[in-house]
Amino acid sequence: MTQKRLLFILCIAVCMLLLTLSACNRNSEKNVVSPIYEINVTYDGEYKIHATENVCYFNNSDTTLTQITMALYANAYNEGNQPFSKDVAGSAYYNGLSYGGITVSDLKIDKSPAEYTVDGTTLNFNIPQLESGKSINLSLEYEITLPECTGRLGKTPLSVNLCNFYPQICPIKNGKFVTHDYSCYGDPFCSEIADFYVNVTLPDADTKIATGGSITDVYKDESGKTTYEIISEKTRDFGLVFSKSFKTTTKNCNGINITYQYLSDEAPEDTVNLAANALTSFSKAFGKYPYSSFTICETPFAHRGMEYSSLILITDKMLAKERELTVIHETAHQWWYGVVGSDQYEEAYLDEGLTEFSTAYYYHLQGDDETFSNLITTHKTNYQTYSEYLSSKGIPFDCVMTKALNEFSSQSEYIITAYDKGALAINSLYEIMGEKKFNKAMQLYFSENAYKIADVSCLRKAVNKYSKQAGKTIDPWLDGTVKL
Ligand SMILES: [Zn+2]
Repeated sequence: MTQKRLLFILCIAVCMLLLTLSACNRNSEKNVVSPIYEINVTYDGEYKIHATENVCYFNNSDTTLTQITMALYANAYNEGNQPFSKDVAGSAYYNGLSYGGITVSDLKIDKSPAEYTVDGTTLNFNIPQLESGKSINLSLEYEITLPECTGRLGKTPLSVNLCNFYPQICPIKNGKFVTHDYSCYGDPFCSEIADFYVNVTLPDADTKIATGGSITDVYKDESGKTTYEIISEKTRDFGLVFSKSFKTTTKNCNGINITYQYLSDEAPEDTVNLAANALTSFSKAFGKYPYSSFTICETPFAHRGMEYSSLILITDKMLAKERELTVIHETAHQWWYGVVGSDQYEEAYLDEGLTEFSTAYYYHLQGDDETFSNLITTHKTNYQTYSEYLSSKGIPFDCVMTKALNEFSSQSEYIITAYDKGALAINSLYEIMGEKKFNKAMQLYFSENAYKIADVSCLRKAVNKYSKQAGKTIDPWLDGTVKL
């Protein structure tokens, strides 16, 4: 504990030094200093998580801040909200409707108690003037009630999924904090890179933990409570899952420690090898996977899978082929979401389109062009079938891709637009540019936007560098004028 606090203080000192140095060299690209989160999480073994959170926050914007907004994604599980779309809600609430949420009981700004307001999934408070380049220290205390469900946050029959749980400072875009109402479609998140120093205390030593980052220490107290010290630096989020039922297998792949915490996978070695192949292949194609660890976690989960930085969740209810595609998809998200961030609420097609295309492209990288081609054809068939179905019912199909999650009328419309059409749009760039130029453009998009929040203009810029002809085709895909 003491060592970690020392590390935290050292990190702040280094960051302050970086800020000072950057101030001396204002002509170079702006030096962004990420927030530092120090979180202490204690689980009571039932339905409650108690936590304290210190955040050292740097004002990287050009304006003076007088207010801060944090996302409280855990409140999506409040009574009256619908965190799941209709097609999964029935199975997600495996024991009937159940509610949860987060209650913030204390907020201090630079050690002084502060007032705050909670509005659904956002927490707002005023701060003393924080000039550009200066930092502020926030301390929060909060309690999370776990709903009985198989969501990103929930107590499942076999595990606790503790993801998107902590109050997270919203990124700033054009001088404003980016906030979105939670959506049951897609991944309603937008987050910036941060450093996380987390202690997780569990009631016993039998419970195993799956998390992004590295577990740096584990210790037990006299009562048997076990604390894990975890460090996750330069990551877009911090998530974890714990379970007494986890079995573990590991593999080292080119210096990356891959851990698989699984429940019922009958071929866990195949899953680990698949993830290792995907990490290696995407590293060669797009740019190097930058972290030293990668964790796959099989858990009861309402969706097929979910990406977190250096951690992926996959549901324990899948056939082998579905698992294969899900592992590749969520691993590809490490590039398109994890390292290169985007606003997943406003531009869902951007990370999902790139990720779905990358999933198909993985097979080409393995020498299996037949599967690559079949997967692209399936995206096209899905799109056409959906379009024809709507047409037969006389329902207009709004196939514009630039829609925010709250503008989709159904889960199907979201999947067809962001995943199927998104993958086809990227495949079209691949076909126009040819593999060599396409790879160069993707590598440029990756390196120029690593650890930032990109948007489609960043992708267009990278594509234009290698093919202006391909760059011109992006907008017709987005505005729905491309006919399929
Ligand atoms: Zn995805």
